[in-house]
Amino acid sequence: MNGNSEPEFTGEECTPRRVSEWLAGENPPQILDVREDYELEEGIIPGAVHIPLHSVPGEVARRLNPDRPLVVYCAHGVRSLHAIRFLRSQGWKKSLSMSGGFVEWLQENYQVESHDSAPEVAAGERYRSQLRLPEIGLEGQRKLLSSKVLIIGAGGLGCPAATYLAAAGVGDLTLVDDDHVDLSNLPRQVLFHTRDVGEQKAPLAANALRGMNPEIQVREFSRRLNNENVNELITGMNVIVDACDNFETRFIVNDAAARKGIPVIHGAVHKFEGIVTVFHPAQGGPCLRCLHPSPPSAEDCGSCAEVGVLGVLPGLVGIYQSLEALKLIAGFGNPLIGRILALDTLSGDHRKIQLPVDKACGCNHC
Ligand SMILES: [Zn+2]
Repeated sequence: MNGNSEPEFTGEECTPRRVSEWLAGENPPQILDVREDYELEEGIIPGAVHIPLHSVPGEVARRLNPDRPLVVYCAHGVRSLHAIRFLRSQGWKKSLSMSGGFVEWLQENYQVESHDSAPEVAAGERYRSQLRLPEIGLEGQRKLLSSKVLIIGAGGLGCPAATYLAAAGVGDLTLVDDDHVDLSNLPRQVLFHTRDVGEQKAPLAANALRGMNPEIQVREFSRRLNNENVNELITGMNVIVDACDNFETRFIVNDAAARKGIPVIHGAVHKFEGIVTVFHPAQGGPCLRCLHPSPPSAEDCGSCAEVGVLGVLPGLVGIYQSLEALKLIAGFGNPLIGRILALDTLSGDHRKIQLPVDKACGCNHC
């Protein structure tokens, strides 16, 4: 058998060596650690989900996928055998117990990580519900906690987008907005209170997010994004959320992000209609200039204040933007690259529109 391929599931056990090779291959198995909390001091196998043996029946189906291969281990390989016999009786046909357990794994000097560094210890309670989704899990949560997102605009789109990114545990958020809170902003800019009228938006929004999730870093930038500061602001970002309300800024961000290969989550609203898409030329998708080669005229894109808007629509679009950012960072689902999600809130129709790369744009050249 090739070391990287799946072992057969006729037997009940596989060796630590085989598990190590399998983990290094293209289709690594899920790993379940069934030891007790006090046994984790020497670390865990990287990526393992920890569920003490007595909690396996109640928790395993919520945290792991029964259709994917699963390796279970304990200290010596006895409890894990009990676990896989139980699991197989419940239909987990692709489960194997690691013989010799974690003790043998350590003796063989295979890779171990500190359990203390895992967010399930420091922040497991906070993120418990999303950690239970196999599509996110510990690995996805780690990616979120170590990611940096720039949110341009702390208005109708930026407030809900930033709220859900902070709540989900994106580790480093930067809010850019040079504006002050106006009373007429409050129906859609839900991070602000009536007492905030006249105050700067970025520090207020940042403080609200810090209160919601003190475990993440929230930065604020209370000046306007322009050609001079854009490169400094976007450097090192994993994702940019374009939640601003003017095409001049959108194009500056688009061009700088395309040059650096950073995806931009685009959201926009007009009356009762909203759109969301991901501009990511580095992954073969189009950019804003593929959609609009040059900024539309001012008459074509009046602001919310001029055209009118019901606050719930930017709320919906901003939340979709946060979802697309989480998908890109944690690596689940199918991001809206090259597709526009168009929401018509009057009819209730949600449509997806293909958005091809404009060959003349130049954003996508290899
Ligand atoms: Zn383009």
